Amino acid sequence: MPARRVIDRCLQLAQFTEEPGYITRTYLSPPMHGVHDCLTRWLREAGCEVAIDAAGNLRGVYPAAMANAPRIVIGSHLDTVPHGGAFDGILGVVLGVALVESLGGRRLGTEIEVIGFSEEEGVRYGTCFIGSRAVVGNIDDGLMQRIRPAILEFGLDPAGMAAAAWQHKISAYLEFHIEQGPVLESLELSVGVVEAIAGQTRAVVEFQGKANHAGTTPMLLRRDAVATAAEWISFVEQMGRNTPGLVATIGGLTAEPSVSNVIAGRVTATLDVRHAADAVRRECTRVAFTAAFDIAARRGLQCATRMIQDHAAAPMDAELTTLVESSVRAAGQSVYRMISGAGHDAMIIAQRHPAAMLFVRSPGGISHHPDECVREQDVAAALAVGKKILEHWS
Ligand SMILES: [Zn+2]
Repeated sequence: MPARRVIDRCLQLAQFTEEPGYITRTYLSPPMHGVHDCLTRWLREAGCEVAIDAAGNLRGVYPAAMANAPRIVIGSHLDTVPHGGAFDGILGVVLGVALVESLGGRRLGTEIEVIGFSEEEGVRYGTCFIGSRAVVGNIDDGLMQRIRPAILEFGLDPAGMAAAAWQHKISAYLEFHIEQGPVLESLELSVGVVEAIAGQTRAVVEFQGKANHAGTTPMLLRRDAVATAAEWISFVEQMGRNTPGLVATIGGLTAEPSVSNVIAGRVTATLDVRHAADAVRRECTRVAFTAAFDIAARRGLQCATRMIQDHAAAPMDAELTTLVESSVRAAGQSVYRMISGAGHDAMIIAQRHPAAMLFVRSPGGISHHPDECVREQDVAAALAVGKKILEHWS
């Protein structure tokens, strides 16, 4: 069964790790050589020319039936978070190999490039998407200086970075990826069509009150930063629940002095807001900030807000997404369109080329964890969808 083989190959590649007993494979770390070797063998056996570009991306190109044909690209990333899973990223690359194999040597009216991006998670340098940024020609000088030693150490030539960018017309970029969330499982669906990758706001909100004795300060004479933050956190949670498509999270909270018998004088809270529509996300961020100021003022505290990041949403290509959708239907699966709350390589590629994504159910909604897994029936469904997509160019 091809689906079983895809899963087995992902598990085989999971053996290449920086930490025995876990799956940890950061940008151009030594175990990436083993992953490249296996994929190179499989891609060559399937009829691809294989090369590794200066950013460390593994690229196999399967020729078209005619010269000067356009190119479609199927891929995802090969790196992992520390103590990650065996399928995040890798599945999309191994599925690409399986789709080329499924042609059995038959050529299409397009070249097919299978790409394994060297870096997506941002672990080694704190910068995400190094692999996909390289193929759209978006590695700036500062980043280049930081990653140069890793490139040299891996045995690659940094001078080739400009040539890593696609010189061809890319008619489609397709990324198969585990959902990393519980939605498909809750709907009992194998696959989901990604319409857009949500935009993201990251901010910090600070409440400044007055630290004082927990025993001698009456309740009505306090300026308690923790109680103030708690009221605001409840507000943000309600806003998230009441706004369709919005996710709003306060994930980090620091109280000072954080002692049981002292009223907290200061609380610093992180705020993460995501939505497919940038206007909705920005408006909700504004409402959250206003609420923080209002709640603080009513309780006699100072409040300060600081924006850390404002990433716009990345819509997938409408025409290509329609092709994916009709392929899902043709493969006998129910069509469900969804928004990705997490960032993916597809959002970098979408800046320059038509991109589309298909999510594969994540059992238990688990990812970035050793328990991350996939079901064989879902991988089979993704393969069937992929074959239908390829028929478009046959
Ligand atoms: Zn991923």
